[in-house]
Amino acid sequence: MRRVSVLGATGSIGQNTLDLIARAPEDYDVVALTGASNIAQLAKDAIALKADIAVTADDHRLEDLRAALGGSGVAAGAGAAAVAEAAARPADWTMSAIVGAAGLAPGMAALAQGGTLALANKESLVCAGPLVMETARQHGTRILPVDSEHSAIFQALIGEEMAAVERIIITASGGAFRDWPLERLAEATLDQASSHPNWDMGQRITIDSASMFNKAMEVIETHEFFGVDPLGIEVIVHPQSMVHALVGFKDGALMAHVGPADMRHAIGFALHHPDRQHLPVERLDLAAIGRFDFSTPDERRWPALRLARETMQSGGMMGAVFNAAKETALDGFIAGQITFVQMADVVEDTLTGFDASAGLIADTMTLDNVLQIDHLARKAARDAIHKRAG
Ligand code: NDP
Ligand code: MG
Repeated sequence: MRRVSVLGATGSIGQNTLDLIARAPEDYDVVALTGASNIAQLAKDAIALKADIAVTADDHRLEDLRAALGGSGVAAGAGAAAVAEAAARPADWTMSAIVGAAGLAPGMAALAQGGTLALANKESLVCAGPLVMETARQHGTRILPVDSEHSAIFQALIGEEMAAVERIIITASGGAFRDWPLERLAEATLDQASSHPNWDMGQRITIDSASMFNKAMEVIETHEFFGVDPLGIEVIVHPQSMVHALVGFKDGALMAHVGPADMRHAIGFALHHPDRQHLPVERLDLAAIGRFDFSTPDERRWPALRLARETMQSGGMMGAVFNAAKETALDGFIAGQITFVQMADVVEDTLTGFDASAGLIADTMTLDNVLQIDHLARKAARDAIHKRAG
């Protein structure tokens, strides 16, 4: 039996992970499940999977969680520290699927306890890539990417040498507004931005797909995880979302990973690695699909891609600034304070304005320093939002 924990168990990735685990309960000993607002789902899954502990990130909900767990024998915890403590419990495999920078500390705790980390929380790598990778090295633990593009790259690299890699191409569906006239983007509503043509995901990442901030984050994630030079990372628009990524080698060969737009593939790959096991995903009928289309992303439509390149050029802790500004701008759009296109303006203002104040924090990358930068950058981004909203 493998001991497994799922951080962000109540979310889209978390639920897909539990779906796979629940298909073979005899194989898994569930240690910790964590969630935040969805107490009923957290308790239901923790009871069904006989978890040792269920934890909500919301420190006001401990009693609610206890009540929902009833006499099941599952222990309860609440608050950010309790989430990190649950993540530190010995487990052989942990899914990191909390959304946002809130996933960084629990992911680090899971790495430090020594088990494999299946990483969906791309924000950890954007905020603190070198620190996360170094923590894994120090503790001799493995990180397996769960983002579909990164799982695809990982799979295309099996048996290959990084020295033979010339470039990496990640695909983007183009999201909800791929074909909208540019001048209409400013009117895009929250509802419109929250529906994805191909993938069924959490609301935040769906909006990030429409703005291409998700892809911008993934470019940085590729750079941090695979150690590829930013100049060697390309983004291509591929509306069908079936070719997830391609690795280009020195000899000109491209190895593509093709599969349905179903996260259970990447999750299942990480869960069963190094084996491949049967997964309940659609088998593609290529003749019925007929064609795959590719085109160059228009950076007037998606300035997020340029902002990611600038962030990587600046290096240091600018990834944490980028992520915090992006998360805050997204909050602002969801709250109706700024328009869809103003999200990129807010991130750009925060990035360009940040240099001066960044010197106040030591530039060695520690968890505390990253969280401090995150805090400052959120404040700067909120100011940028108010400047626009006011
Ligand atoms: P969801 O919004 O669906 O789920 C997020 C999870 O995190 C929920 O369990 C939520 O709890 C929990 N959570 C929210 N806020 C906090 C917090 N402050 N502290 C601790 N836990 C919190 O997100 P997704 O599943 O879509 O995405 C999860 C991660 O995976 C993200 O980093 C995303 O970028 C990445 N990812 C997602 C993909 C997808 O297909 N969805 C694809 C590739 C990557 P609750 O719901 O109970 O409030
Ligand atoms: Mg992805």
